[in-house]
Amino acid sequence: MSKLFGSSGVRGIVSVDLTPVLTCKVASAVATYTKAKKAVVGKDTRVSGNMIEDALVCGLQSCGVDVFLVGYVPTPVCAYATKAYGADVGFMLTASHNPAQYNGIKVFNGNGLSLTDPQQLAVEKVVVENRYGLADWRELGSTTASDATATYIKMVNDSVSLKKKWHIVVDPGCGAAFSMGPALLKSLGCKITALNAQPDGYFPARKSEPSVESLHDLSKAVAALGADIGIAFDGDADRVAFIDETGGFVNFDRSLAAYSGYVLKRSGGGIVVTNVEASMCVETMAEKYGGKVVRTRVGDIYLSEAIVNNGAVFGGEPCGAWIYPQQHLCPDGLLSAAMFLAALEDTGKTVSEFVGEVPEYITLRENFACKNDAKYGVVDQIGDLLKTVFSDYIEFTTVDGVRLSLKNGWLLIRASGTEPLIRLTVEGRTLAVAKDITTKATALIHKQVEA
Ligand code: MG
Repeated sequence: MSKLFGSSGVRGIVSVDLTPVLTCKVASAVATYTKAKKAVVGKDTRVSGNMIEDALVCGLQSCGVDVFLVGYVPTPVCAYATKAYGADVGFMLTASHNPAQYNGIKVFNGNGLSLTDPQQLAVEKVVVENRYGLADWRELGSTTASDATATYIKMVNDSVSLKKKWHIVVDPGCGAAFSMGPALLKSLGCKITALNAQPDGYFPARKSEPSVESLHDLSKAVAALGADIGIAFDGDADRVAFIDETGGFVNFDRSLAAYSGYVLKRSGGGIVVTNVEASMCVETMAEKYGGKVVRTRVGDIYLSEAIVNNGAVFGGEPCGAWIYPQQHLCPDGLLSAAMFLAALEDTGKTVSEFVGEVPEYITLRENFACKNDAKYGVVDQIGDLLKTVFSDYIEFTTVDGVRLSLKNGWLLIRASGTEPLIRLTVEGRTLAVAKDITTKATALIHKQVEA
């Protein structure tokens, strides 16, 4: 596995892991490896965004790459612009949902697809071997500022049209969708009330990861205003979260399962792709509408690959990152918002009715601090111990971390691709089952982390 790249590109704490020097090297290495002539560069609203952008652009220009700067945009807009502009490569400077001190570099190929693992390794090799294809001083790259907004909004409006004037409370959380989120929903004819729609890289209003806690204000606003729906994005808006018409937070697994069921019903079956962390309610809904579920490792690149390889109609991770292969292959929170509204309109249902069709299993998630250099080893060692503790297990897989299927639920233990954490996910048909599995697994993880 690459040391520089995690499951979502290069990411780390600014001035500790991610420095301008490293950024410049990564940019030159990507340019050298891909032989790119034209690049698109976007950024989220983080305090370090301008500095990291300057370093990145410097590395690209030094290798003769012409750069189109699309400014503060969501990740899917940057990915879409990379393809739409006919660029060879795209760079999104973001640390997604991570706290304000982080930043990162997400790299797309000319189709707007994240670089694959082998491609990332090849880029890393250029950095390690320090062999950059620097351009002659007369052939250095240029920079051009460009607005990608209109191109992207047209794509969504070509894909979705709404008849109803939905009243939406939208919460970009001061992140990359601060302008585009409200603008896109307005372009679809919706009535918008916006919260936290000023750009602020300190994320003062809420954490950039959407959750019940971080979307508390949005829930209250939806209920108080009697709005139809609340829509929130993570820091770079490749993820979406919904609040129903009563102000209730919609569980990520259930919205994913409900939408998967809807797409399969509309397309008369087919394949949906999700990752090993998603609830078994996705299978329940897929089976109901004659479809099949393919599960991948966690990380949107693996979903995109599996969507292409299986000819899937839709794919999504239970963090709210949903992919629509007919539009493009980058998870897209903004497009998801539009598509979800269209599905509600098509079925004539409210948010709670739409999601209410999905059975409610109990999912519990816990994170355990564990150093980056130890986390993969801990997970590797824990498999055999798990099989001893849960001796009546039905299936054991290591597609990503270790996953055990049990009679009335399952558990997954995996190392985070972006943070010094081990993540435990447990699902049970009842709360008692889920709690029992969690207690046993937690004890085991603590013992291994401390060992
Ligand atoms: Mg994100």
